[in-house]
This record gives sequence, structure tokens and C-alpha cells, in this order.
Amino acid sequence: MSETVVELKPAAPALSLPREIAPEDWARYRGNMAEILDALGLPLGTPGTRDTPERFLRALFEATSGYDGDPKLVTTFPTESDAAEGRPLAQIVEGPIAFSALCEHHALPFHGHAHVGYIAGERIIGISKLTRLVRLFSRRFTVQERLGEQIADTLVALVEPEGVAVRLEASHLCTQMRGVEEHSRTTTTAWRGVYRDAELRREFLDLAR
Ligand SMILES: [Zn+2]
Repeated sequence: MSETVVELKPAAPALSLPREIAPEDWARYRGNMAEILDALGLPLGTPGTRDTPERFLRALFEATSGYDGDPKLVTTFPTESDAAEGRPLAQIVEGPIAFSALCEHHALPFHGHAHVGYIAGERIIGISKLTRLVRLFSRRFTVQERLGEQIADTLVALVEPEGVAVRLEASHLCTQMRGVEEHSRTTTTAWRGVYRDAELRREFLDLAR
């Protein structure tokens, strides 16, 4: 079985290197964060909150680790079936894949799960790599629609499938925490290739629900 190894590139070339923040910059950010949290009403300086500005910054840094790219290489494998001629359009659907992202409008989390489906061409990819792909784009400041489009486009580039379907369902804390729409969940879909066929889309959505 011949493996093909593909490097997972982040979408923005400028962000292809892991982020580095100089210690003096970090100290300044920590001071800024302390000022903001204090102004909002958090009593800093108690045993529980003394390190909160630092912890909050670290948490944000980790939550946006998608900007560091993914140094792990992705291995794809030949599809185990005979020649492409007459091959049935069998869907590979993976999910739910849990994800958390930060809404770029409010910098608050939205979180939920993804279903990723594709109809293989010459190559397939493992489930763990699909999870890696979802994380690469979700651990950023983003919007749900773009997240689905990026996952779909990158999977197309990685395995050159006949088609790709991505369904994301998420709760957005920026609406829930402010009491706008407390229990709403937002669903988005992205389709590529043969998924322009309504029957395939229905089949995917049945599998994803
Ligand atoms: Zn928002």
C-alpha cells in the first residue's frame, strides 16, 4: 500500500510559522489584561485571581493555536477498491467531531460538532486526520460559515475526492451569554463536487443527524 504524505498548510501563508511572543511583550499584555479585568469588576490580587490575567492570556493563546499551523504530516492511502470506472459513490462520513472556536466578532467561544463526509477518488484519509483538520481551522478567531468552507476546501486539496460535505452545528456564547437567543444552535453546511446532487446531500445529512 503506497502512502502519500501531505503537509497540512494553514490557509494564510503569513501564519505558517508558530507564533512567538517575546517575554517583554507578554508582560505588557498581562498588564493590559489586568487593567481590563479590574475595570470590569474582577477583584484581582486574591489567591484565586492573582494569576488570572496570565491564565486568561495563556488560555486564549491555546484556543487560537490553529494559527500555528499543523506541523504533523497527513498520510493518505489509496482507496481499496478497483478501478474508478463504475465505482459506486460510497460516502465516508465521520463525526461528531467536537470543536471549539472563537467568534471573530465578539472573541467569545462558539462550540459544537462537525460531520465531515467525502466520496473518495483515488485516496482516503484517516479519522484522526479529519479531527486534526477541524482543529486547524477551529482554533482561531473565525465565523462558522468560513470554518466549514476551509475544512471543505482543504480536504479537497488533500485527497482530491469526488465530493466533500461538511456540516457544523454550534452554540454561540456571544448570543447565549448576553441572553439574545439562549438556546439556539446554528447549523451550516458546505458542499463540494458531486454533493451538488440533492440525493447525496440528503443521504449525508441523514448520516450526520
Ligand atoms: Zn459573536
